[in-house]
Amino acid sequence: MKTIKTAAMDADTRAYHERFMRDAIAMAELALKSDETPVGCVFVKDGEIIGRGGNETNRTLNGTRHAEFVAIAGILEKNPMGVLKETDLYVTVEPCVMCASMLRQYGVRAVYFGCWNERFGGTGGVLNIHSDPSVDTPMPVYGGIFREEAIMLLRKFYVQENEKAPEPKQKKTRELKTEIAPTDIHAPKS
Ligand SMILES: [Zn+2]
Repeated sequence: MKTIKTAAMDADTRAYHERFMRDAIAMAELALKSDETPVGCVFVKDGEIIGRGGNETNRTLNGTRHAEFVAIAGILEKNPMGVLKETDLYVTVEPCVMCASMLRQYGVRAVYFGCWNERFGGTGGVLNIHSDPSVDTPMPVYGGIFREEAIMLLRKFYVQENEKAPEPKQKKTRELKTEIAPTDIHAPKS
């Protein structure tokens, strides 16, 4: 697990990764507008986005409709499975254990994510599905691109959900917290 230090990258590399993460954030924002947990992703092949997805678990009442599964379903409608081996994933939140397993089985080339998923993360946040030595080639994973934006989207969602609850919780729980602890407090040991 590597934390991307965008400040240490050369300007072109940094702009390249940030460009796609911005598109992933746009998908997460769309999910938020539809009352879905705001997680969004894009798959990139040769510098082009070939698939996009946002969480759809609430609308579909299907717990497997995570952003990554939604995007891959779209890609496989138009492409052979092998194309995924030539793609990089940009996703706002670290893939969960289920998605990490799916991504590794398809041989996705690399995963770039925003914030860690401390409850269900499959690429270092909780389990290390991406690098478990019992399966073939490990999948490189880089976390921390636009981490604050990804966290703020999740917080907005929880505030929004609390406001809709029939008996709203105490007001202090509905306030949007804006301070974000530095990466090293939450980042898993690499
Ligand atoms: Zn998932």
